Amino acid sequence: MTPEDRVRAAAARFDDDRGELADRAVAALVRRTASAGQECATCGRLKPFSAFSPDYRRSAGADSRCRSCAAARRTARLLQRG
Ligand SMILES: [Zn+2]
Repeated sequence: MTPEDRVRAAAARFDDDRGELADRAVAALVRRTASAGQECATCGRLKPFSAFSPDYRRSAGADSRCRSCAAARRTARLLQRG
């Protein structure tokens, strides 16, 4: 089973008849594997895609913040709420 097959199979469980979600998920996977990484929107450092959470709703296929920035933001928000 290729990574594409796995993404397709996973998306199929949530998908409607047209298979749009599976197509978008596979396209995002291809984009993520085509390039070495992306710049984090918060710390601005170029990091590999493994440093970002996958997010199929975004065109890049990954979160715009790296995992450590996303975690810092979550913690900050929790502290803000008290
Ligand atoms: Zn970052």
